[in-house]
Amino acid sequence: MNVNGKTNVLGLLGDPVEHTMSPLIHNTLSDSLGMNNIYIPLQTKADGLEAAVKGAYALNILGLNVTVPHKYHVMQYLSELDDGAKAIGAVNTLVRTETGYKGYNTDMMGLSRELDSYHIQLEGRQVIILGAGGAAKAVAYLCMYRRAGRIYILNRTVDKAGKLAEDMNGFFGRDTITAMSLSDYRNLPKERYIVFQATSIGLQPDADKVIIGDADFYSLVETGIDLIYNPFETRFMKLCRESGASAYNGLKMLLYQGVIAYELWNHIQVPEDIADQVYRKLKKKTRKNIVLIGFMGCGKTTIGKALQETLQYQFLDTDTYIEEQTGQTIANIFAEKGEAYFRNLETKVLTDLQETVSHTIISTGGGMPLREENAELLSMLGEVIYLNIDAGEVRKRLAEDTTRPLLQSKNREEKVRDMLAYRDPFYRRCSDLVIDVAGKSVKDITEEIQRVMK
Ligand code: NDP
Repeated sequence: MNVNGKTNVLGLLGDPVEHTMSPLIHNTLSDSLGMNNIYIPLQTKADGLEAAVKGAYALNILGLNVTVPHKYHVMQYLSELDDGAKAIGAVNTLVRTETGYKGYNTDMMGLSRELDSYHIQLEGRQVIILGAGGAAKAVAYLCMYRRAGRIYILNRTVDKAGKLAEDMNGFFGRDTITAMSLSDYRNLPKERYIVFQATSIGLQPDADKVIIGDADFYSLVETGIDLIYNPFETRFMKLCRESGASAYNGLKMLLYQGVIAYELWNHIQVPEDIADQVYRKLKKKTRKNIVLIGFMGCGKTTIGKALQETLQYQFLDTDTYIEEQTGQTIANIFAEKGEAYFRNLETKVLTDLQETVSHTIISTGGGMPLREENAELLSMLGEVIYLNIDAGEVRKRLAEDTTRPLLQSKNREEKVRDMLAYRDPFYRRCSDLVIDVAGKSVKDITEEIQRVMK
């Protein structure tokens, strides 16, 4: 990023702002599109909000995002409001105009684009919205705007669901939304619904929680969309999938709310391949997986388990996963079906994991990164750490080991040296971090990884 006298400033007003993903979204867009913009978080206290909006305008700031707790209060300081933002009663994007900032709600527009990307149509469909907070308002507006059939809003505080239903029915002049309590799902007509999970239940670190746990409820779900994206697969999504429904998280909503804001600020259309580049970065960042790669004996399992303990993550070993799935040992698979068959299994595992795991340490088979396709899948899965080891150390560590099919050779050390020299560039090509393990303790290595991952 080359900041100069012509650089436009974009930013985020909120409190707190330190965990925001928005700089990643907007600065990646600027880099990829070659636009001279910089996006920065601007922590703003409630009592400084008016001064912040006026000051930003005076400082020629091109555009702003607004997040908690200012999405509602900021509206009074704007020169104009988009219709959607007005009806939803919340603004997350300020676009500079001749007379001041105009407020938009790109959360709603972002969800709309997420649904398009998954080919989910709302028109005429029966919908359930779980929750009646800020996000649920955007969902309700979108469902009405897209002319869904009947819409049921279920919320812990029924009065809030009632108020939202009344507001939206009034705004659109149709009596489409019914408000209910959460337990009222038992009284819903027995049909298949599109269900939006718009409560805050199930967010990391409470990933094991879900707003409705009863399997009967999930028999009503045809498509489930959880607005939460952290964890990547929520319990709500798992329950949907277990009952045969399709399920999606809210990461694309986050992506597209940013993309649309960027389009509004810059009067451009962001090409889909660039939006996809940003999505990959977001996916990697939010899932928080750590993928350990490297030659056999480099310590992937030992380091992985040590990290699992300190970070309180899950642990997954791809070889063990394959053995469990196939009911055969790796040595048997190699002996009976050959290496190419095994490599195909590895690619399938990596593809399966893309849509599910988060907060997991993934220890991989030593040959996994050799395939170009796998290298790509690995780097989308998480932060890839290459544990680099030399041939002498491998010989020492695996002196007694007779289980490795690829090391069954008379001159083991020479074989290891050749294999390492061949594989090293493949390991490096997909790694985010390389750690030389020789002479370091498990503690040293896990601490080094944690330092870099912060
Ligand atoms: P709000 O605080 O405005 O609303 C929270 C909702 O969750 C309310 O319906 C509330 O019910 C319900 N809720 C909270 N705690 C409980 C509980 N213990 N039991 C039952 N219900 C509960 O939050 P938002 O609407 O802003 O956000 C909701 C979710 O949507 C968040 O998880 C957020 O991360 C996600 N989101 C995702 C976006 C994306 O880009 N993907 C964008 C915006 C939000 P009640 O009314 O009874 O309090």
